[in-house]
Order: sequence, then C-alpha cells, then structure tokens
Amino acid sequence: MAEDYYAILGVARNASEAEIKRAFRKLAMKYHPDRNPGDAKAEERFKQVKEAYEVLSHPQKRAAYDQFGHAGVQGAAGGPGFSAETFSDIFGEVFEDLFGVGRGRGRRTRARKGADLRYNLELTLEEAVAGTEVQIQVPTWVACDECGGNGVAPGSVLTACGLCHGQGVVRIQQGFFSIQQTCPNCHGTGQENRHPCLKCSGRGRIQRTKKLVVKVPPGVDSGDRIRLAGEGEAGEHGGPPGDLYVQIHVKEHPIFTREGDNLYCEVPISFTTAALGGELEVPTLDGKVTLKIPPETQTGTSFRLREKGVRPVRGGSPGDLICRVRVETPVRLTKEQIELLRKLDESLKGGGQRHNPQAHGWFDGVKQFFEKLRPKGH
Ligand SMILES: [Zn+2]
Ligand SMILES: [Zn+2]
Repeated sequence: MAEDYYAILGVARNASEAEIKRAFRKLAMKYHPDRNPGDAKAEERFKQVKEAYEVLSHPQKRAAYDQFGHAGVQGAAGGPGFSAETFSDIFGEVFEDLFGVGRGRGRRTRARKGADLRYNLELTLEEAVAGTEVQIQVPTWVACDECGGNGVAPGSVLTACGLCHGQGVVRIQQGFFSIQQTCPNCHGTGQENRHPCLKCSGRGRIQRTKKLVVKVPPGVDSGDRIRLAGEGEAGEHGGPPGDLYVQIHVKEHPIFTREGDNLYCEVPISFTTAALGGELEVPTLDGKVTLKIPPETQTGTSFRLREKGVRPVRGGSPGDLICRVRVETPVRLTKEQIELLRKLDESLKGGGQRHNPQAHGWFDGVKQFFEKLRPKGH
C-alpha cells in the first residue's frame, strides 16, 4: 500500500496550496540527489515527495486523490503512463525556482569561443610531395588592445544589469509557478556594458591580418587539411579562440598527374626508338632516371618505376611512377628522309602483314563487319 501523499509531505488534509508548496520545497531540498549523492534512501524519498507534490499541487488531481485515494490518480503520477521526460518538464521549472543559480543553470558567462577559420592553400605538386613551410596571411579577430578584450571603455567597468539586477534571469509568474527565464537585456550574463569601448564597439575584439607559418608535411594531397589549434578567430569577451583549418589544393602539374600515391606521366618516344628499343631519360620528382625501352614497343605501353611516386603523408613506402609511352610521328621531313621512309614502307609491305600485327587484325575485323551489313543474294 502506497504511503499517503499528505503524510509524505507532512501536511494536514486541509492544507492550503501555499502550505503544500512550502512543505515540498523543504523536503525536496533535503532529499535532492545533488545533496545526497549515492544515498538510495534519500533518492527514493525524493521521488515520493515529488510524486505527492505533483498530485497535491494540482487541484483536479488533488480532488480525485481525496475522493478515491491512489486509485484516483493512477497514471497521473508514478503510474505506468508517467514518463521521466514530462516529469522533468514539470519539475525542471520548480527546481530552477528552488535552487536557482546553485544548479549551474543561472548566470551565463559572457565569454564566447571564437569561430573556426578555413584557409585555402595552393601548393605545387613538388611542394605537396616534399613538404614545405608557407607563410600565410589570415584575416582574423584578435583581442582589442584598447580595452584588453572585455569591451569596456578604459576607466569604466561593467555594471549589474538593470533589468535582472545582476541575476542573469528574470522571474515570470505563471499561475502557481514562478518561472525563471534568461534575462533578455543581458542575455544571462547579469552584466551591462554602459560605456562600450569605442575601438571595438564593446565586442572586445577587432579585425586584423595576422601572419602565420604553416608547416606542410610531405605527401599531402588536395582535400587534406591541417589544423592550427587556437589560430582561428579570437573569442568574444575573453573566450577561447577558434581553430584555423588550412585546406590543401594541389595545382595541376605540367608533367605528372597524381592518383593516390602513384604518379603518372606520358613520355613521347620516336618511332625508331619504339621499333628498335633504346634508353630514355624520364623525369621523376627527385631527378632523372633512365628508362629502358625494349624493341617493338607499342604506343600506350606503360612502364612502372617502383617507389618513384609519392611517400604517403601517414607513412609507409612510396607509390610508383608509371610512364606511358606515346609514339610520335616525325614532322618536317627532308626530301631524303621522305625517300628513306618510302623505301622502308616498300620493304615493310614486302613482308606481308607480319610487321603490322595490330593493323592486320583490325582490318580483318572491319572486313567482317561490312560483310555482315551486305544483304544476302546481292
Ligand atoms: Zn575594445
Ligand atoms: Zn539582465
């Protein structure tokens, strides 16, 4: 059998609303979990006190309770339909009223964290791969040197807010409850700035351009970002600064393209080198290397140079450099060269199709294609 609500609050059955509220405040303060950490008995008692108050402070519920006892208010308090959420909604207001600033919900600090900033940093591929140090200029807010960051004109001080008298909150009477709200005049700070600093208009910070050195680690790529903690905008009213994020953009390179840790480049070779084979100097990011071209190399063939790519920014072995050769047709030929090429052509044709295996296969395919198109019987 549940305990009588009047007995829990220690009031007479004909107690007035004010008496009930007073009794509840006293008991709620006494048994509140914040004041009795780890005390299960106090917590249980606290719940009972709240339950009793929830019913007895509500005229209709109280009438039902007086007439039918606990059965009359089942589901209203402590019953199955009673969720913790509505519970705290109802009592949250009362507790603010009871404990005020002591619960940490009262006065807000004026300090506000500064915004994070983003800086787009363009790098060449070489810089991104090798790492670099770059000096950048960032427009940002810094603490005002005139007022020292508090926004108050020199020689003046912050005064208590005239509306809330420094409490940061104002009370609004709403029926039985007295509800606390953040003060609209001082936004909960409890302070008023009657003589704002002229240089920063009372904001405590001014806009400046600051120079920073960004250390770019080797191996970064477009889309990577470097965080410079505390280098964002200054906070307001002495709040902590935000962070600066340096966003990396790697410019297009005339020779190399990058995919992950691999580099790709296209290397033109003469058709004689392609046919006879030879050696070729190819660029890498750390100097030239010699690439051996085997005889009878076709255009589009790729050669892989191991570990001549990019060393990943998070460590590990470097990627590869992949050179794709493109056979170049000679231009501006002399009469003599043309003559030699004609002779070469005659000679190659004399060998049938064995010198042009790809063309042979391709023309065969074309022939079959046209034969299929031609209607039968014609
Ligand atoms: Zn100032
Ligand atoms: Zn105020």
